[in-house]
Amino acid sequence: MAKGNIGVTSNNIFPVIKKFLYSDHEIFLRELISNAVDATQKLKTLASVGEVKGELGDTKVRVIIDKNKKTLTVQDHGIGMTAEEVDKYINQIAFSGAEEFIGKYKDKAEAIIGHFGLGFYSSFMVSDKVEIFSLSYKDDAKAVHWSCSGDPEYTMEDTIKADRGTDVVLHINSEFEQYLEDATIEGLLGKYCKFLPVEIVFGKKKEWKDGKQVETDEDNVINDIQPAWTRKPADLTEEDYKNFYHKLYPTQFDEPLFHIHLNVDYPFHLTGILYFPRIKRNLDVHRNKIQLYCNQVFVTDEVENIVPEYLTLLHGVIDSPDIPLNVSRSYLQSDNNVKKISSHITKKVADKLAELYKNDKDDFCKKWDDIKLFIQFGMLSDEKFYERAVGFALLKNLQGEYFTLDEYKDKVKDSQTDKDGNLVLLYAQDADSSYAYIERAKQKGYDVLLMDGELDVHAMSQAEQKNEKLRFVRVDSDTIENIIRKEDTLKDNYTNEQKEGMRKAMEACLPESDKLRYYVNCEAAAADALPVFLTQNEFMRRMKEMSQHQQGMSFYGNMPDQFNIVINTSHPLVQELMSKMTSEEVEEVVEKPAENTDGKTDEKVQETVKKTVYTLSGEDERLHQLLDIALLASGQLKGEALAKFVNRSVSLLG
Ligand code: ADP
Repeated sequence: MAKGNIGVTSNNIFPVIKKFLYSDHEIFLRELISNAVDATQKLKTLASVGEVKGELGDTKVRVIIDKNKKTLTVQDHGIGMTAEEVDKYINQIAFSGAEEFIGKYKDKAEAIIGHFGLGFYSSFMVSDKVEIFSLSYKDDAKAVHWSCSGDPEYTMEDTIKADRGTDVVLHINSEFEQYLEDATIEGLLGKYCKFLPVEIVFGKKKEWKDGKQVETDEDNVINDIQPAWTRKPADLTEEDYKNFYHKLYPTQFDEPLFHIHLNVDYPFHLTGILYFPRIKRNLDVHRNKIQLYCNQVFVTDEVENIVPEYLTLLHGVIDSPDIPLNVSRSYLQSDNNVKKISSHITKKVADKLAELYKNDKDDFCKKWDDIKLFIQFGMLSDEKFYERAVGFALLKNLQGEYFTLDEYKDKVKDSQTDKDGNLVLLYAQDADSSYAYIERAKQKGYDVLLMDGELDVHAMSQAEQKNEKLRFVRVDSDTIENIIRKEDTLKDNYTNEQKEGMRKAMEACLPESDKLRYYVNCEAAAADALPVFLTQNEFMRRMKEMSQHQQGMSFYGNMPDQFNIVINTSHPLVQELMSKMTSEEVEEVVEKPAENTDGKTDEKVQETVKKTVYTLSGEDERLHQLLDIALLASGQLKGEALAKFVNRSVSLLG
């Protein structure tokens, strides 16, 4: 028997591994199975070039639990190792790699707890002792038995082994006995090994017999060795893509909308399939994530920092041998290959969308509502994606028709350009609550868009920045005549004093609220518009809405909601009330800057001016009634004010 010290200088490497990797110790299984798969693939390659002769026999990798002996074995029938190879690959290379790694990351536990492979020695995280039994494929090879109990000392001796390949036997530490449970191992195999290219067997298939589950003779193969992304698109049907989607996400019942098959050879290797799911309202829900693989080995599904955030809304797999497996996430972000991969995916996704739009507009429009959030998110966060997407990003009007921005501008430019040359695009966020305003716009021959999406407000602001003289205005933000001003604006013949009197009378009727603020003004709107109605300033409202998504905008978010109360002086009822106002002449003392020759001194003089003051008798409750109707129409009449309105209505009828 040979004894030796594995190639490390420090004695305490194993406690360090165990301590550092506590949260991620389960990856040992992925590492051992990857090694077994590699050894099997290498054997197949050698056989294909004639270096291994004869039948290969069973090449499955097996994971075997022995509860009595408390061992977990990963068994392969790959190329195996000779004693010299064990010495070289296990005693020297593997462990020196480990030491270097630990030396580098000793002080940054968080940086390494994450995503990397520790290779063979990660098995010591969960074991008291690890043994290797191996027989090389080489002619006249002798089987070798290696054993190590988690200190730098190992033993190595000849042994007897019938078939080619390697058994790695872990004597599981009592703290980690969960790895002797079938359910735990099944879970881990499902997570890491579902798509490995060599069959992985765990126990026997079970079937129901007489109301009980019994084992059959058939091996329980847990993986799909040729997952859809590794096959040629031409060989796959729509059905295959959908089936694969459900295999990836067994708990997802919705069908994906469409998919993109990625296949890149240059300047890096990458394959994969991305799916567009129906993206529901809430941006934060990432229940199913894109899974990252390296040669069919699952690496991570935390791709947030690897691909742009909006791409994380997609589902599917990305497989690239160029994505480093053995590194931490912070390293991934700055890796050049990873950056290239991300920009490539962005381009592919945009190209695919453009193609879908071009080939079947109707179908694209049908899917638009479900992918809109994704596309807007992409356009807002990635300038390149914006440029690509502007040709297929759509606007939807209240009739349910879809247009690109350019198409829509063409459609409305003749009717909705104001006297200053601004093109005004009207929109509603809720067709029901803005009903009256929408009707007035339609009467004018205008079109109204529906902008009820979570990112619409941001998307509109972006479009305004990119398009000169383009404005989006919510249809109830002002009178339609004011929103799109034409040369022939309406006027009334009332004096400022009369309007002031009406304004004051209205202010006396306003409800008090901390959360709402009202501003009153008199305006000549259309004669068939309501006598009194509410409007809401576009800019302020939008800032408030945007502040919900954006940090640093809480200033707007904390402001009370502001509304304008418009008294429509074109309406006969208002005109009637105007005529009921009484006037009196008053003298008022005002301060005026003193007239002087040099214009510099700021002396003031007092002057008495005559003024006509108009008042509406408090007895006349009709103005209050008109206000309450306007508030009611906007859903803002509540509590005591509502009760008073009801009573007043009854008495006015009587
Ligand atoms: P890595 O797999 O990253 O190279 P490991 O520490 O896991 O590092 O393994 C070191 C080396 O030991 C492998 O490169 C391989 O040559 C050899 N090896 C490990 N496991 C096996 C196995 N099951 N069959 C044959 N060779 C193996």
